Amino acid sequence: MTSIWEPEPPFLVMAAGFMVDLHTRKRCPHCRQDGTCPRVQRAKRLLRAWRLTVEERRRRRYFRCP
Ligand SMILES: [Zn+2]
Repeated sequence: MTSIWEPEPPFLVMAAGFMVDLHTRKRCPHCRQDGTCPRVQRAKRLLRAWRLTVEERRRRRYFRCP
């Protein structure tokens, strides 16, 4: 559950989410034979890192309503 006080995800995070979503339907030219894709791996790592920072912000209450 995201709060309205949290900022919108940066463009890179949105792009990473789009990339992962796209790969659930089709492959890209960078996909390997075994079905893995370096771009998806990078995107998932970025999303995981973003989620961690969201937790961190929530814990520290950086964006609390004044
Ligand atoms: Zn791919």
